[in-house]
Amino acid sequence: MTAYRGRFAPSPTGPLHFGSLVSALASWLDARAHRGTWLVRIEDIDAPRTVPGAADDILATLAHFGMHADEPPVWQSHRMARYQQALEQLKSTGSIYPCGCTRKEIADSLLNAHARNTTLAYPGTCRDGLHGKTARAWRLRVPDGDAAIVHFQDRWQGAQMQNLATEVGDFVLRRADDQWAYQLAVVVDDADERITHIVRGVDLMDSTARQIYLQRCLGVPTPAYLHVPVVTNALGEKLSKQNGATALDKEKPLDALNAAARHLGLDVGSGSEGTSGSATASKQTLDGFYAAATAAWAKRMKIGGA
Ligand code: GLU
Repeated sequence: MTAYRGRFAPSPTGPLHFGSLVSALASWLDARAHRGTWLVRIEDIDAPRTVPGAADDILATLAHFGMHADEPPVWQSHRMARYQQALEQLKSTGSIYPCGCTRKEIADSLLNAHARNTTLAYPGTCRDGLHGKTARAWRLRVPDGDAAIVHFQDRWQGAQMQNLATEVGDFVLRRADDQWAYQLAVVVDDADERITHIVRGVDLMDSTARQIYLQRCLGVPTPAYLHVPVVTNALGEKLSKQNGATALDKEKPLDALNAAARHLGLDVGSGSEGTSGSATASKQTLDGFYAAATAAWAKRMKIGGA
């Protein structure tokens, strides 16, 4: 069996918050329960959204919380040449095409589509040429008909299916603002780092079929997927740096870790021998917490006969 390799891939748009801690912890526990390798990748590819200093802050918080990566972190901003190579590979196989549509043009055509009660996917305007427009982005051509349906088995959420033609349409790999799209960078990196298991928030599940299809186009393996429930605020929105999620209190790692484990439905007691409940929480150690949480995760996910 291929050796387990998992990763946590934060975008450095702000400090680690409770929502991203849940994803970090889930990927860490899954790697530990499999006795595998756990990696951290800084997804600083989206220059307009990257906040200076946030990546170092995230790495320091993970270390302070006792989650140490088994290999040095990979930075997407150092890997532009690899994304270009992948784009060239897809060009040479005719899998991608330049697109000259502006956001407004796409929105207008989708409004018409909506009025006709048809799909909200990219309508494929530039599939057969730019129609005199200037190339702005590169899109991956998705198949028509049944070939557009991607199935996968999510280890937490169960069987999933998405029709790329009707639900997504040809999607962008190189953006009009000269940035690499997340979909391309994540697939190239997961393949180059030989990631076998992806554990992340369910908000990213909608991207998974696109990533699986892109893996097939590039001829790289498809990892196993597990999407954990995301943390929402009082309005039911995903907790994010954008909607004001506060940074974690670095002085109290165990409080945050216990709350993250509870969010994942893990019974970790207090992490100290033979006791449970908050009355004994002061005796809990990071090692005790991780041992209990890894065992609880292995049991929940049925790993290693647990
Ligand atoms: N960088 C992405 C995020 O922070 C996660 C990417 C992934 O896990 O595939 O939302």
